[in-house]
Amino acid sequence: MSQVLVVNCGSSSLKFAIMDGSGAAPLLEGIADRLGSEHSNITFKFNGQKVEQPLHEHDHKGAVTAIKQWIDDHKDLNIQLVGIGHRVVHGGETFSQSVLIDEAVLQGIDDCSKFAPLHNPAHVKGINEAQALFGDLPHVAVFDTAFHQTMEADQYLYPIPMRLYREHHFRKYGFHGTSYRYISAKLASLNENFGSQNTLIAHLGNGASVCAVRAGKSVDTSMGITPLEGLMMGTRSGSLDPSLLSFISDAEGISMKQALDILNKESGLKGVSEISNDCRTIETAQAAGDDRAELALNMFASKAAKHLASVATNLNSVDHLVFTGGIGENSPVLRDKICERLKMMGVRLDQNLNQTCPRGEISQISSDTSSANIWVIPTNEELLIAQDTLSLIDKH
Ligand code: ADP
Repeated sequence: MSQVLVVNCGSSSLKFAIMDGSGAAPLLEGIADRLGSEHSNITFKFNGQKVEQPLHEHDHKGAVTAIKQWIDDHKDLNIQLVGIGHRVVHGGETFSQSVLIDEAVLQGIDDCSKFAPLHNPAHVKGINEAQALFGDLPHVAVFDTAFHQTMEADQYLYPIPMRLYREHHFRKYGFHGTSYRYISAKLASLNENFGSQNTLIAHLGNGASVCAVRAGKSVDTSMGITPLEGLMMGTRSGSLDPSLLSFISDAEGISMKQALDILNKESGLKGVSEISNDCRTIETAQAAGDDRAELALNMFASKAAKHLASVATNLNSVDHLVFTGGIGENSPVLRDKICERLKMMGVRLDQNLNQTCPRGEISQISSDTSSANIWVIPTNEELLIAQDTLSLIDKH
């Protein structure tokens, strides 16, 4: 069967998977970590085993070379790569769907680096290296922002002088689009009326956002020009009074950029709990009676509910509310706290279904009296990247 290598390049990491488009588990997955340092290594997960090895070259090229070597060393598996799918964080206003990568597309991704200075240059590097080593295969870019390009101007514009939008394209872009598109397709396969229905999706992971989907299209989302806007997250503050940036910078004697780093890397669950950015660790601490953990979880739930209610103002009704992402899929505690705060929408959880829904499966957890169907749907962004890659190759 034809397979796709799915690549997700960060500034110091490269995640990868080899999979077909069927939804079956990846044949191989792994991560190259600490790129740029001499301690860089790569982990291959295959057939229930995990093998870690150091990289010979400590950069994206070294990572892609190691993956190619692994494939060459496993000829017995008969891996038939037909293309490479690259996850790209920012597609700006240029990309509203997945595309085959050529020179112009690569330039377009590079041009969006101003909005994602850590991610897009890493994507360009990863694509260049993958093209050099797998040059005869087609490469496809799948954008986190693309699904939200259907938002109307009154939602995506910031209320700032319009000159700033016209000259610099400063606006809300939104992220997690691949996840929202995957969830929407799943819901459509489960509900024949989905095409005319209204849905709220909460993607709650280390990064977290919400999206309102009307008739299959994104009409509003909580993240902005960068992923900092919106919900409280693992280490990101989410939305707050922008004046705080200059207060922090003045009070701490640091630059605006350093103050922004505090909002991106030291805030959120980590900043409030003073324990961890990891929800599991915080839930354990809360269960042991830690007040800071309780406060952090309550704040997380409160912000998530507020943003869900906010994007819902674009919908006439809420037919479905979906939880996804590491927290959305696995934390009954937070799902309960969030739904509790959305009672005014008529949302009602079934406590038993919420507690017992099996990990990794689609579950409906609403009570009979709930106005909206409440779902837990595991997301699978890699699968959608593989499917987009296969379908674009097919078309051309
Ligand atoms: P990322 O944004 O990095 O993709 P994930 O979607 O993998 O993040 O989600 C990571 C988050 O999910 C972490 O905060 C982790 O603690 C949380 N999580 C995973 N499993 C559980 C669980 N069983 N209970 C509560 N939180 C969980």
